[in-house]
Amino acid sequence: MDAPTTLKKHDLKVTKIRLAILDALGKTELAKSYAELQASLAEFDRTTLYRTLLALMEKGVIHKALEENGESYYALCSDCSIETHVHDHMHFKCTICGVVQCLDLPKRLKFSAPGIHIDSIEVVAKGQCGNCN
Ligand SMILES: [Zn+2]
Ligand SMILES: [Zn+2]
Ligand SMILES: [Zn+2]
Repeated sequence: MDAPTTLKKHDLKVTKIRLAILDALGKTELAKSYAELQASLAEFDRTTLYRTLLALMEKGVIHKALEENGESYYALCSDCSIETHVHDHMHFKCTICGVVQCLDLPKRLKFSAPGIHIDSIEVVAKGQCGNCN
């Protein structure tokens, strides 16, 4: 799905900054930190960038992959909707180069607890990425 279609599907108007953020996050599973996004989208106002990230998160287009040491990392969602985020993948952070990515494992994460309905699970794995090990 191209970026304008993604936005429309999530009830968002197509704007320059929204397209730019989707473009910056790309089609890969790699997450980008707020600092990286800010650097590559320097033409946009900081407040606008921050608000746009919140709107995209609220509408199920992107998610926060990790929040660590005051830095947030964002990645595209694959199957989330306007109503809810449904995630059953984990996130990986390389302890050497710092790359953060969504890990789509062949085996999905499933947990259950009596009386509780789980929509999303946040698991962060750390180690060395393919470039560092
Ligand atoms: Zn999501
Ligand atoms: Zn690495
Ligand atoms: Zn993710």
